[in-house]
Amino acid sequence: MITVAVIGGGAAGMMAALEAASRGAAVSVFERQSRVGRKLAVTGNGRCNLTNMNASPAAYHGSDSGFAAAALKRYGPEETRAFFRDLGLLTVSEGDGRVYPLSDTSGSVVDVLRYAMESAGVRLYAGCEVQRLERTGSGFRIVWREGSVPADRVIVACGGMAGERFGGTKLGYGLLEGLGHRCTPLGCSLVQLRSDNPGCRSLKGIRADAGVRVLYRGETLAAAVGEVQFTDYGLSGPAVFEVSRAALSRRGTVVSLDLARDIGEEALAEMLLRRKMNTPQLTLGDVFLGTVQNRVGRVLVSAAGLKASESIGALKEKTARGLAALAKHFEFPVTGDMGAANAQVTVGGIRTGEFDPETMESRLVPGLYACGEVLDIDGDCGGYNLQWAWSSGRLAGKSAAEV
Ligand SMILES: Cc1cc2nc3c(=O)[nH]c(=O)nc-3n(C[C@H](O)[C@H](O)[C@H](O)COP(=O)(O)OP(=O)(O)OC[C@H]3O[C@@H](n4cnc5c(N)ncnc54)[C@H](O)[C@@H]3O)c2cc1C
Repeated sequence: MITVAVIGGGAAGMMAALEAASRGAAVSVFERQSRVGRKLAVTGNGRCNLTNMNASPAAYHGSDSGFAAAALKRYGPEETRAFFRDLGLLTVSEGDGRVYPLSDTSGSVVDVLRYAMESAGVRLYAGCEVQRLERTGSGFRIVWREGSVPADRVIVACGGMAGERFGGTKLGYGLLEGLGHRCTPLGCSLVQLRSDNPGCRSLKGIRADAGVRVLYRGETLAAAVGEVQFTDYGLSGPAVFEVSRAALSRRGTVVSLDLARDIGEEALAEMLLRRKMNTPQLTLGDVFLGTVQNRVGRVLVSAAGLKASESIGALKEKTARGLAALAKHFEFPVTGDMGAANAQVTVGGIRTGEFDPETMESRLVPGLYACGEVLDIDGDCGGYNLQWAWSSGRLAGKSAAEV
């Protein structure tokens, strides 16, 4: 019987373990935290957005994003839902293809995987941080502080550095580098952005529905629509997460917010002028009344260099047009991100060119496999990263169990 050691009891590792066990391998999972699936348990704000029905290679990034295609083709979102259904977990698909457990609780996803591993006889080494993988004549030796065990095949599923609070770590890169693999430069995606626009601090706590564009020298790199949250350090919220990868892809990017999505620039300028005509007793601070949130309006007025206390009667047509343009294109230079502690996914990882996409086996070390976020693949926001963990984990588990 082939012995398979899976390093990491996260999404990819548990999937790999179950697949290998279902094919007759004797499987052990090594997890440094006291329990498996700790990060999985906090995904999707505790709801676990476990896949997306639109998952295709286009939703993935990396030095060779095409690497993800083979695993996704074999084990796509339909297969993921069927797999979980077989484990007794029903799922529902929402409008934009995002799939959640019917229970609406990520804990149930962790539980069905955990119980399935128990039933399949997978041996769990919890609280066991693997420090080294050694090659032996017939396979590998898995080494941790208190001991070591042999294994015919090893699957490294240690995840990436993102989400440090939930177990994100660089350890997996080190384990694979110890066997000759190389890592690309690392960064963050699906993360809050820092900006030095003072408007962020003035608007701290405000949530706005906005159009979000990432600009670089006038070119639009990415766009999204949805909730933006202003914080004292910069910008957060789902729509910001969605464009964060592009915003961090080079120095000098700017996030441009459309804070009046439902109206064109011209029409907005006319509304501002009408406000002046109809309610001349107001101040400039009230000029956006009824068109954007009050606090947002006042910050736009001050960002335009105007005095909020001045009478609205001072509003000239040119100024009204300038204010409308500002509301439609309020720009925030990007100065960085909130780091791996806060990011949902790692950009970069172990070079995919050193693995076979059809099997997830190392091209350098036969019998060694890798899957999930430890590899240089990251997905868009919306269930794509877990789908990559399931697809690549299952493929690695299948391949590692093959005689
Ligand atoms: C807050 C948050 C919310 C998210 N929400 C979503 C979402 O809704 N949908 C989505 O698709 N994606 C989401 N993601 C991303 C997704 O969770 C990850 O991409 C996915 O979990 C990666 O799976 P993985 O198995 O590769 O790594 P992980 O799930 O991180 O698992 C790796 C495991 O390996 C263990 N480990 C590491 N090194 C060692 C070692 N040396 N020895 C033993 N064990 C080790 C770690 O403790 C960890 O348990 C979210 C991420 C975060 C942080």
